[in-house]
Amino acid sequence: MANRIVLDTSALFSMEQLPVDVEAFVTPGVLKELERYKDRRASLWGDLLHVSEASKASLAKVRKAATETGDSTRISPTDAEVIALALDLEAELLTDDYSVQNVASHLQMPFRPVGIKAIKEVRKWRWRCTGCGKVFDNEMPECQVCGSKLKSTLSRKN
Ligand SMILES: [Zn+2]
Repeated sequence: MANRIVLDTSALFSMEQLPVDVEAFVTPGVLKELERYKDRRASLWGDLLHVSEASKASLAKVRKAATETGDSTRISPTDAEVIALALDLEAELLTDDYSVQNVASHLQMPFRPVGIKAIKEVRKWRWRCTGCGKVFDNEMPECQVCGSKLKSTLSRKN
């Protein structure tokens, strides 16, 4: 049986060709977005993409997860449907949308970016004291050691 993947609009826009030997699924909302942008891929891939709707149970799970990660305002109804469909199909989710990845990650679903790096490679924010140089994991009004201002900085470490 072929592997199943679910694609969102951002993933489709990053692709020149659909992967072979997979069953590719989209939601009706994704297909509509492609057609709205008059993207040639909609007609090229129309016959190759399986269009399927997500279950209400999975949609509820996705909305709950998005609330927990703080992504609920960043996720469109179409985004939520795409994540929910991937849950229903136990499929790998292909997306370049940071918030979609974040919610998928929270739900411990398999996901993969297409045109960008996965969020596990996104660096974490830290705060460094402008006075003594001590680094803090959380934002604070001032350094707990010397009282100087903190400056946000990106760290490669977890
Ligand atoms: Zn300090």
